[in-house]
Amino acid sequence: RLRVARRVEDLSGSSIFRINAKAEKLAGQGRDILRLDAGEPDFDTPKHIIDAAKQALDHGYTRYTPVGGLPSLKDAIRHKFKRDNNLYFDDDEVMHSCGAKQALFNTCMTLLQPMDEIVIPSPHWGTYPSISKIAWARIVNAPTYHEHGFVLRPEVLDECLSDRSRIVVLNTPNNPTGQVWSREALSALGEVLLDYPDVFVVSDDIYEHLRYTGEPYANILNVCPSLKERTVVINGVSKAYAMTGWRVGFAAGPSHLIAEMQQLQGQSTSHTAAVSQKAAQAALDGGLDTVHDMASALSNRAQQVADGLAEIGAIDCHPAQGSFYCLPNFQRVIASLDGVDDDQQLGDWLLEELGIAMVPGSAFNAPGHMRLSFAAGSETLGNALERLQHAFA
Ligand code: PLP
Repeated sequence: RLRVARRVEDLSGSSIFRINAKAEKLAGQGRDILRLDAGEPDFDTPKHIIDAAKQALDHGYTRYTPVGGLPSLKDAIRHKFKRDNNLYFDDDEVMHSCGAKQALFNTCMTLLQPMDEIVIPSPHWGTYPSISKIAWARIVNAPTYHEHGFVLRPEVLDECLSDRSRIVVLNTPNNPTGQVWSREALSALGEVLLDYPDVFVVSDDIYEHLRYTGEPYANILNVCPSLKERTVVINGVSKAYAMTGWRVGFAAGPSHLIAEMQQLQGQSTSHTAAVSQKAAQAALDGGLDTVHDMASALSNRAQQVADGLAEIGAIDCHPAQGSFYCLPNFQRVIASLDGVDDDQQLGDWLLEELGIAMVPGSAFNAPGHMRLSFAAGSETLGNALERLQHAFA
């Protein structure tokens, strides 16, 4: 067997890939599989963005760019932070990356020494612990609970922090819970963080624009500006502009940190494709109309899913407030099914018996739950809800 470096052993993601692969196999055999396992919008990239990319190719954007990004893209990123977030960054405080994922990777690899601790509220996106493992950091899970609407309590954060802590990750709207943390909740966390001056905050705002509560968006810097010297805000165009395949994300933070992150990126991917950078610039500069259209369609689906699940007494679910996921609790269903003992087995059972693909909650450190993605048309959602109602109501 090939000997590989320890850092790549045991990187998770397997149960998501397993469900994806199984769903595809069953669909290939002619089964009618309803896919509620997607992690990307089912919308197309808006036309004005595609047109801008075509033009960019015609104008020769086919070469290397600066590692931090084309100056025009960096301007668009700074403008976006000002327009959408009331946050002001200088040119040397922002950089682009190959997706928000690489921005996060750069941040963790730049800040974390082996055995430093990273506090990750759970349930969480699986990539946070995976990157932490690559950085040889120690992962401290800060649990949030269904009963508390999956919002992190300040006393839980306080318990998780110590003089070994280096990073706290915040992700609102959240993947996988679909919950949005209020200004008050963030402010309470900010208060705790003031007592730990060596800890950096990583604010993953990738689902910022996909919200359904009508409340204005806030991240931790909006409620606790004094954290600015030790906060990295991560965002990108993947979700808001239906641009997952273009691979453009960005980070904003203290200039000395961004400079180091650029060094790191300069020795790995250098930058994302010049044409993608121009497309992202067009997205950010083009305003928010298409984003609002998509968010409004997703909002209707969030409601459809919440109503449909509420009719099934055995499944508890907090209606999604943002992102395109919710995380129903299937514990009572699991207890009622013969031969199904946990969410992994339930994932297989739902696929085989009902033809519904959902990702088991264990992939997000949420055993007993399933992640339902409503990045699927409302007909698909309606059919899935009907099958669930028929089976469990
Ligand atoms: N952050 C969260 C919470 C996500 O769910 C995802 C994608 O699933 C990302 C970041 C990555 O975004 P990108 O496609 O820009 O790398």
